[in-house]
Amino acid sequence: MMTENEHTTEEEWKEKLTEEQYKVLRLKGTERPFTGKYWDNKEKGVYYCAGCGTPLFNSKSKFKSGSGWPSFTNPIDESNVHEEQDTSLNMRRTEVLCSKCGGHLGHVFDDGPKPTGMRYCINSISLDFKPKNKED
Ligand code: FE
Repeated sequence: MMTENEHTTEEEWKEKLTEEQYKVLRLKGTERPFTGKYWDNKEKGVYYCAGCGTPLFNSKSKFKSGSGWPSFTNPIDESNVHEEQDTSLNMRRTEVLCSKCGGHLGHVFDDGPKPTGMRYCINSISLDFKPKNKED
């Protein structure tokens, strides 16, 4: 796990990512709600990691949470995300990271809708959306 993270230095991440992406993906920042590109995106397609291109979420699992961040009931593949306990800001939360590059994506909460009851609350800036091909 985190092989790319191990081989990509902080200097290389700074070159590869925009300053805003770096703040969220590498420094675990949070974009302001209702400001990101995807919180209200209703197109069909796949959301990839903005750091390394790993497919993370499908639009099929996206739902309207009202939080101002793109929200999903489940990742495309459990093995593509990594979850860790986060006790920063005096809160007990579960952080969600890209399992390939270790980039910070957001947090997951257990107040989501069916079928999983989970709410993956993800920063738009950590994602790269590719719309589904019309012919697919
Ligand atoms: Fe990644």
